[in-house]
Amino acid sequence: MKDKKITIAIDGYSSCGKSTLAKDVAKELGYVFIDSGAMYRAVTYFALQNGIINADSIDVQKLISLLPSINLHFEVNSTTLLPEIYLNNKNVETEIRKPEIAARVSRIAEIKEVRIKLVDEQQKMGQGGGIVMDGRDIGSVVFPNAELKLFVTASIEVRTQRRFDELIQKGITTTRQEVQENLTWRDLIDTTRGESPLIQTEDAIILDNTALTKEEQLAHVLALVNQLISSK
Ligand code: C5P
Repeated sequence: MKDKKITIAIDGYSSCGKSTLAKDVAKELGYVFIDSGAMYRAVTYFALQNGIINADSIDVQKLISLLPSINLHFEVNSTTLLPEIYLNNKNVETEIRKPEIAARVSRIAEIKEVRIKLVDEQQKMGQGGGIVMDGRDIGSVVFPNAELKLFVTASIEVRTQRRFDELIQKGITTTRQEVQENLTWRDLIDTTRGESPLIQTEDAIILDNTALTKEEQLAHVLALVNQLISSK
């Protein structure tokens, strides 16, 4: 069974290193890595670009009517070897990481029709197995039969510092307080919304990485994968 390609679902709170972990695991195993949050962020970017989000309101009906014109795909960057997201054939990887997207994405992710479209696309990407996908509803909705489900968590202080460092490194001006408020706000909406809220499924393994390095976390998860594959 060593050659069997499994599906790995990684869920958890904002900025707790899910994508980093998913990326590293996929690289080690030769699997596809999909950052599902990038898809919700790209739809939010589309909504901003098309005047669907105005000041504090969202024109939900307009967004729903335009959903068929939103085409998303990932392409691997030949230098970093990491997948990057394209919105209607334009690379929007940099734009979607900006604070104005983070400030609105959780409201867009609450819309049922948006979720139906993105979940359908995510399920198609994972059809053959050999995929590591991270998000909020991967183990609960997208891949309920995933062989390995991880629920990642870390303290709010550590998550804030990690996201703050990441934004500063990208040349984005922000403060720790602003970052922490955004993470707390997104976690609240993501865990309490009516449509597929972030939950820890019964069969998920909790991974608290507050005190773990990236390398320790990766080694832990690879051990879990090996255990799983060799027990099959
Ligand atoms: O993972 P990331 O922080 O980039 O996700 C951005 C936002 O997209 C989350 O805060 C959440 O509102 C939404 N999201 C979601 N379901 C997913 C992935 C992301 O609702 N599977």
